[in-house]
Order: sequence, then structure tokens, then C-alpha cells
Amino acid sequence: MSGGAMRPLDRLPSIRAKLGSVIVFAVAVTIMIMYLTVGFALRTYEQTRESQALQGEAQTVAALAFTSAGVPSSNLGRVVDRVPNQTSVFDASGRPLVGSYQPPTLDRVLRGYTDFGLAKGHRYAGVPVFRGSALVGAVYVSRRDVGSGIGGAALTTLALLRTVWWQLLAAGAISAFIALALARILARGMTQPIREMAGAAERMATGDYQARVKVHTRDELGRLAGSFNRMAGELEGVERLRRELVANVSHELKTPISALRAHLENLLDGVEEPNPETLQIMLEQSERLTRLVEELLDLSRLEAGDVPLQLEPVGLRALVEQVGREVSVGRGSERPAFRNEVNASVEVNADRERLHQVLFNLLDNAFRFTPGDGSVVASASIRDSTCEVAVEDTGPGIPAEHLPFVFERFYRVSSSRSRDDGGTGIGLAISRSIVEAHGGRIRVEQRPGGGSRFVFEVAVAPPAAGQDGGRRFAEPAQGGVYAGGARVKEEA
Ligand code: ADP
Repeated sequence: MSGGAMRPLDRLPSIRAKLGSVIVFAVAVTIMIMYLTVGFALRTYEQTRESQALQGEAQTVAALAFTSAGVPSSNLGRVVDRVPNQTSVFDASGRPLVGSYQPPTLDRVLRGYTDFGLAKGHRYAGVPVFRGSALVGAVYVSRRDVGSGIGGAALTTLALLRTVWWQLLAAGAISAFIALALARILARGMTQPIREMAGAAERMATGDYQARVKVHTRDELGRLAGSFNRMAGELEGVERLRRELVANVSHELKTPISALRAHLENLLDGVEEPNPETLQIMLEQSERLTRLVEELLDLSRLEAGDVPLQLEPVGLRALVEQVGREVSVGRGSERPAFRNEVNASVEVNADRERLHQVLFNLLDNAFRFTPGDGSVVASASIRDSTCEVAVEDTGPGIPAEHLPFVFERFYRVSSSRSRDDGGTGIGLAISRSIVEAHGGRIRVEQRPGGGSRFVFEVAVAPPAAGQDGGRRFAEPAQGGVYAGGARVKEEA
């Protein structure tokens, strides 16, 4: 509970204790109620029995109180004295012969009815007296009743309970014992996953993400255990990625740093001359370091979603042309032929700088891996409001088993070749992040005639302002379906 006072149950240290105390309390209340009702029922029974006894006494007196002729017996006083309870005898006209009790229902009895009940704190029974068929009088026997009224009722019940207190105690103790044992078994089963989770969470806190909880039940705790296991699995995955990343980054940084250091040591030792060639190599290594760090920063920003996209309509053909020139510059005449087959009418809705980066990565790879007699082709096709941009080459291609991984950070099909080439293994990971930030997907496949074919999706630019309210931003779509209408420029 937040803040305020704890409820009594929350003070107990374990679920087992809570369950146990609740069950014991319930059992105690049940036993109490049971004994009270039994007590009351027995009291009614007792009262009936008492009335019957009084009636019996009245009958005895009635038999002896009058002669067979119907006149009051001469020894009426003695007859009455033999009966332990207060006795009153009346003649047929209701005149008292013996006793001072004033019965509440005398006329009823004098009409021939037997009567018993409780009046003014006295339990009474009255019987008519017949001689032959003639009613000659009435006999009443009465006694003070201790059990009348609420207080009296409670007193008689209590008195009754006092006589059976040890049975009560024994039954209560046995029930409480059974209840506690049941609570213990129940709580043990119920709290098993909780205890396991607590243990697993503690292990996770110390860096061991392999702990899992066994799921035995389908109740809330079972579901909680399931969620816990999924969470543990995801944390384990994240932790593995983090470790891999740190290892990869360290490894990637180490290579150029070692190379630089080796050259510097050679220069200091006089083994190498500080000639332009050596300095050029060192400059390249430091450039590679810079590129690596910049790319890593860029990738982490992209993955964190820190890079806002400046979406605008971009003419794809012109951009491909520009990137193609940038990539082929400085590759000499030994470079593959480049064909830009993108239709001049295609305009996409993208962040120009980021789209440039994707095209640069793809075309740079294609030029790097394709021999001089090969070719690199860029093309685009529009389906609905999606533009599929493809970059194909006739290079060595990527073996099928590597295809699913080339977009992962630092993944290289052949590490030595790519690294010699200045590759960092991050370019495609950055490209994927950019394409996904635009709401599209990127994939690679083997080109039918050899070589590789990279394809990514980007939204076609929406109709010009005025036709569609000038919408400028594509909503990232699921499954590569894009919002926004197609816009194809009139061919010049
Ligand atoms: P790098 O900077 O090493 O090129 P990338 O992420 O751009 O990193 O590429 C990852 C790997 O994918 C490359 O090392 C290479 O093995 C493979 N690859 C990418 N493009 C091509 C291509 N056009 N032809 C053959 N292999 C490629």
C-alpha cells in the first residue's frame, strides 16, 4: 500500500501466514455460528420438553384433584403439595380452589382445551378436568422461566455451551489444525512461482539472465510467470547484443589503432622513413577510425530515433545520378559500367540527406565488389504509393547463407576483403535504420545472372500542395504499405 496505514493483513510477512490466518478466522467464525444455532435449537427443544413435563404434572393433579362425581377432592391440599411446581386448581366456573396463579388463558382451558406457554416470565401448562363428559374444573402448573427474553435466551444458550465447552474446544482445535495444514499446502503451491521469480530476479540483478521460472498453473500467477520468462528472454537478448556490440566496436577500433601505432613505432625506431607513402597510409588509418566512430554515432542516433526526418519530394533520378558520380570518382578506369534506369518522373517523399546516404552505401558497395568488366544498375518501380528502388551488380554476389545477416552491424561476408577495402560493416545497418525510419523495408537477394540485388522501399511523394492539402510527411507504415498518394511528374 502506498503511503497510508497498512491493513492488518499486510503486516503479515508471508502469503502463507495471510492465507492461514484468514482460513483460521473463517473456521472460527463458522464454528461460533454453528454452536450458537445448535445452542438455540437445543434450547427450543428444552423448552418443549419442559412444557410437556409441566403438562404431565397438571394431568397428575387433574386425576386426583376431583372425585369421580366431579367435586373437589377432600385432600386437594396434599395432592397439590406433591407436585414440585406452583399448582393452581379452578372449578368449572373459574373460581380458584387452590393456589394464587392467575393464568392468562383460563377461559380457553375451561372450554376444554389443553394449553401451555410462557406469560409474565412464567412457563405454564393448563389442562381441563373432565369427569365423564362434564368439564368440572382446570389445573394449572407453572414455573418461573429463566430462559425468557433475549438476555435469558443468551444465558440458557451460554449455560448449554458451558456444558459442552471442551467438545467445542476440541472441535475448534481440530478444524483450525486442518485449516492451517490446508493453508500451508495451498500457499506453498500458490507462492512457488513467486518465490522462484524473486530468486530469478535476484540472479538477474547480478547479471545472470539465464534464470527462468517453471510455469505450472494457468491462473494469474502462471501468467505472471510466463510474462516474467518472456521479459527475462528479452533482457537476455539485449544483454547479448550489448556484449557483442562492445566486443565488435573494440575489435573494429583496435585494428586501425594498432596499424597507426605500428607505423609510429617504426618511424620512431628509424625502421621506416617518414615519406609521403607512409604518411598516406597513416592518414588513411586515422580516416578509417574517424569514419568508424562517426558511423557508430550515426547508427546509435538513428536507432534511438533521435534523428528527425526532413521529408520532402525528392527527384530520384537526379539523386541517383549525383551519387553515381560521387561513388565512381577516383575509381579510375577499372570501374564497372553504371546505368541509371530510374524514370525521370519518379519523385519520392524522403529526407534528401538520408536517402543520399542509403544510395551511397548501396552504390559504393556495388562498385567496390564488382570487377571492372561488370556493371551496376539502379532502377525504380512504383506499385500503389510505394517506390521500390533496386541497385544491382554483376559482382560475386552474396552466398545464400549470408543473406539474412548482411544488414547486421559489423557483419561482413568476407571480413578480410571488405576491411582491406575500407569497409566498416556498418553501412548496411545504417541503411536499414534509415529505410525503416522512413517506414519502408530493405532486402537483398541474389541476382539471377550472378551478383547481388538490393531493394528498398520508399513512399512516393504526395500530390503537389493544393491537391491534397500539401501533406509532406509520410506515416511510417506496416508491411511496406504507404500513406499518401502517388505523384508522377509530367514527362518533360
Ligand atoms: P562494409 O562497409 O563492410 O561494406 P556494409 O554493411 O556496407 O559494410 O556491407 C556488409 C557486407 O555485406 C560487406 O562486408 C560485404 O561482405 C557484403 N556486401 C554488401 N554489398 C555487397 C555487394 N554489392 N556485393 C557483394 N557483397 C556485398
